[in-house]
Amino acid sequence: VRGFEGRKVAVFGLGRTGLTAARALVAGGAEVVLWDENEGGRSAAEFEGFKVADLSKADWSEFAALMLSPGVPLTHPKPHWTVEMAQAAGVEVLGDIELFARTVNAAPPHKRPKIALITGTNGKSTTTALLGHICASAGRDTRVGGNIGVGVLGLEDMHGGAVYVLEVSSYQLDLTSSLKPDAAVLLNISADHLDRHGGMDGYVAAKRRALLNQGKGDTAIIGVDDPWCQRICTEITAANRRTIWPISASRSMGRGVYAIQGVLYDATGDRVVEVADLMRARSLPGRHNWQNAAAAYAAARALGVSAEDAAAGLMSFPGLAHRMETVGTIGRVRFVNDSKATNADAARQALSSYPRVYWIAGGKPKSDGIAPLHDLFPRVAKAYLIGEAADQFAQELEGRAPYEQCGVIDAAVAAAFADAKASGEDAIVLLSPACASFDQFSDFEARGEAFRHAVEGLTRPALRGA
Ligand code: ADP
Repeated sequence: VRGFEGRKVAVFGLGRTGLTAARALVAGGAEVVLWDENEGGRSAAEFEGFKVADLSKADWSEFAALMLSPGVPLTHPKPHWTVEMAQAAGVEVLGDIELFARTVNAAPPHKRPKIALITGTNGKSTTTALLGHICASAGRDTRVGGNIGVGVLGLEDMHGGAVYVLEVSSYQLDLTSSLKPDAAVLLNISADHLDRHGGMDGYVAAKRRALLNQGKGDTAIIGVDDPWCQRICTEITAANRRTIWPISASRSMGRGVYAIQGVLYDATGDRVVEVADLMRARSLPGRHNWQNAAAAYAAARALGVSAEDAAAGLMSFPGLAHRMETVGTIGRVRFVNDSKATNADAARQALSSYPRVYWIAGGKPKSDGIAPLHDLFPRVAKAYLIGEAADQFAQELEGRAPYEQCGVIDAAVAAAFADAKASGEDAIVLLSPACASFDQFSDFEARGEAFRHAVEGLTRPALRGA
């Protein structure tokens, strides 16, 4: 990290991102002081030999900056006070993406990499991985990180030929002001995570920051299938000289990139070109993935990848774990792991991909529960409910679709399999919980792995009995 040589920087939040940032700051000559409300984070930092001290008692006149990890909940009082104290003392509060941006901006032009930023409520990781795959398959030196995989400051040393594909959450955008992405993708906006941004206005404003600092030569790629993004697209069209490519997964447009019935059209040039049949792609099922594909394709084009290479990358994308991932097939029953669907909007995408599903749902509920999904209940052959949300979900389903209380994922998989098999038809058992995982699991990955194990267990009855 550049810009903090010989200065003191506080790092609050010691998960993966915080520790990676602390290392990068030290490598850049800064002195760091670290803190986490949580004992586990502090011991990890102490183990590495970092100085750990309670930042709520810090003398802020000594510090040049406070770096906040994206995981720090500012709604909790102590982090909140700490930030207020730092701000009152005139100390800058920033995030890891901002530290990266300043390093890039300070580099000489021949060392400056190309940057693609991807944000939105849903589809960020898929689009980021997909764009990374396209760029790498096209022979570009590609680093994928940010909110996915490695924190941005943990990526290898940058150089002028590299492409950075960064997934950036709205929390990270809140703490970023200098990033100047060559391609900025804003996929969609729907009501999620509102708690941390003080309502919808704050959330939309955070997402909008993705497009900050863009100018001539840069490209903004904006999903126009929801009213908030549509409005942002209209507003910025008037504003400056960047290129704007709207994307849609449902309608044709005079410019940009769009998919109709899974066929992807490129309208970024003088004429409209049909570029790919996404129905035949290895791993892009469902309309929501057409939006992701349109966005990744457009971003790849903006970064200079040819139309042919971009289309070839879409077709060969292997997919991401825990997102509509087929984890097994037994007879005519296919098991789909969509553990990443932690809200109703994400689960909607999964449910609408199949005409009839045996649906495993539940976990730690979000505020709107599954009420927004009523129109899809006719597709539910039966629901298998787990976790804290089970009673609430049962009330929503009552009289609308059959359901069963299963408590835990193993029981749900066993019950769903028995019913799906008995139907005698081709059937889908889908884990798409519409809930956070924290009531029963450490994260959505652990929940998806538990589903995978349960499915594997179905084919090993002898072992289970042992
Ligand atoms: P994120 O990183 O934004 O959380 P992911 O790519 O990990 O998004 O996808 C999470 C879940 O959201 C997927 O399992 C899928 O059900 C749903 N999803 C993916 N892409 C979209 C999209 N473009 N619009 C709405 N929902 C989507």
